[in-house]
Amino acid sequence: MPRYAYVNGRYLPHGQAAVHIEDRGYQFADGVYEVVPVAGGRAVDEIPHLDRLERSLAELRIAMPISRRALELVSRELLRRNDLRDGLIYIQITRGVAPRNHAFPAHARPALVMTTKRMGFAGQSKFKDGVAVITVPDLRWARRDIKTINLLPNCLAKQAAAEAGAYEALQVDDEGNVTEGTSSNAWIVTRDGKLVTRHLSNDILHGVTRRTILAIATEEGVAFEERPFTVEEALGAREAFVTSATSFVTPVVEIDGGRVGGGKPGPLTRRLLAWYRDYVAGLRDSA
Ligand code: PMP
Repeated sequence: MPRYAYVNGRYLPHGQAAVHIEDRGYQFADGVYEVVPVAGGRAVDEIPHLDRLERSLAELRIAMPISRRALELVSRELLRRNDLRDGLIYIQITRGVAPRNHAFPAHARPALVMTTKRMGFAGQSKFKDGVAVITVPDLRWARRDIKTINLLPNCLAKQAAAEAGAYEALQVDDEGNVTEGTSSNAWIVTRDGKLVTRHLSNDILHGVTRRTILAIATEEGVAFEERPFTVEEALGAREAFVTSATSFVTPVVEIDGGRVGGGKPGPLTRRLLAWYRDYVAGLRDSA
C-alpha cells in the first residue's frame, strides 16, 4: 500500500510529494510545524496541538491555509489512507512560494504539507532503562515559543548528542539554567520529591506533553514547581526525565556522564509514564 502525503490540497504518493524550490520554507525556514502523536488510530491532544499551530502562525503573520475543521478532516483522511494506528501526524505550513526576497511577499499563498509516520511506542528500551543526555549551550533565537521549522541549533545539538552516544541534548542558557531538550521539555524530581520543569516564557517551546503531565500531576496530587534549574541541580536530583509527543515520558539516568538517581529510572518518572500511557490510550482524562 503506498504511503500518502498531503500537499496543498492533493493526496500524493510520498515519493512524488514535492514543493517548489522558491518555497519560503526552503529558502528562509519561513514556516511552522506541529507533530501530533497518534495512538490506536486516534490523534492525541489534537486540540492543544492545533491551538499551538494557530498561535505559531499568528506570531509570524502567516494565515491558516485551510480552516481548522478542514485540517482535522485531512488528518483523519491521511490516517485512513496510510492505515496508521500508532505514530505521528506531521503538519508543516510555510508562507508559500515567492521570488526570493527577505521581506514578506504581497501575494504568496501559505503552503500546507502533511505526512504521517508509523512508530511503536510500546516496549522501547528507553522507557525501561532510561537514557543518557549531554548538555550544550543554547544557541537558539529569542522566540523559542514559536514552533518554527528553523531547527539548525537543535540539529547541531542533537548531532552532538548522537556523537556522544546520548539520546538528547539539554540546552543551557547564559545563566547556567536548562532551557529544554532539542525536541523535548526537561524535568527533574528534587530531593524532597517535588516535580520541577522550567516556567513558560519565550525561552522554551510550550510543550503539549508538558501541559498534559502537569494536568495529571495536579490530579494525582503530585507537588510541582515551574522554575528554572541548573545542570548541577539536575545532576543532584532524585530523578530526571524529558517529555515530548513522541518520547512520552523518557527517564534520564545520565547527564554529561554523571549518573542521576542511581542510574535507574525513578519511581515518580515511572508512575508519570504509566499515567501518561493510560491517558494516550484513552483510559484516563487529564484536565
Ligand atoms: N521543546 C522542543 C524544542 C521541541 O521541539 C518539542 C517537540 N515538539 C518539545 C519541547 C515538546 O513538545 P511536545 O510535548 O508538544 O511534543
